[in-house]
Amino acid sequence: MTDLIIWTILASLLGIIFGSFINVVVFRTKEGQSLGGRSKCRTCLEPIGGMDLIPIVSYFALKGRCRRCSSVIEWQYPAVEMATGILFGLLFARAWLGIGWPNFIDQTEWVALFVRDASIAIFLVIIFVYDFRYSYILDKYSIPAILLALVFNVALGANALSLLLGGLLIGGFFAIQFLVSEGKWIGGGDIRMGLLMGFLLGPALGGVALFVSYVLGALTGIFLILTKQRELNSHVPFGTFLALGTVIAMIWGSGLLNWYLGYF
Ligand SMILES: [Zn+2]
Repeated sequence: MTDLIIWTILASLLGIIFGSFINVVVFRTKEGQSLGGRSKCRTCLEPIGGMDLIPIVSYFALKGRCRRCSSVIEWQYPAVEMATGILFGLLFARAWLGIGWPNFIDQTEWVALFVRDASIAIFLVIIFVYDFRYSYILDKYSIPAILLALVFNVALGANALSLLLGGLLIGGFFAIQFLVSEGKWIGGGDIRMGLLMGFLLGPALGGVALFVSYVLGALTGIFLILTKQRELNSHVPFGTFLALGTVIAMIWGSGLLNWYLGYF
């Protein structure tokens, strides 16, 4: 038990570091900059010193303002760092404890399962944050995630036909809506998210991911309309919900599925 706690904390710290990297990826991708080079304040463009680059800690030590120009540092920084840290901790504890392991994973492969889930999670968090901020699902990150999911799953011994079926069903679900609405309801990015969900989770858990995404999207939409923050016809960054639904299905998908099937 102590081992589990220590390792989960270490996994969370790793997640926090990746969260910091994800913020860099999101802003630099938006601004068309390369991922290399030193971090600068987005307002005064002054390079940021090492002491001010500690994930989460620096944000609070600086009270959310740039040391030089006092401009507000977006809360996205600590939020994404914390969320990615929590996510890595959850994925690690779940792999260690054997909760909802895919049926092709055996005892010796739980570390590989964590590596798979954590790698895909990095892409999903990037897609989540980018779509949330800029309402665009980046192919640059969805396509590598699709390939990564396929490679990991096939290497770990997943049934390739089942993955293919998942990708076709969920990708196809969006592709049909895309064709029927001539691209008005659904964008090409959603089709690629569908492929990712199917290739990562297979048809059953991919279906759970889809269902959870719609429920969360609908609940959020209703909340925003009731609180008058959005109009009925305003745009919803659906990729955000698809990424969130996929992460939830990765961790709790089989539990949710068994719970639901228990009603029949
Ligand atoms: Zn500044």
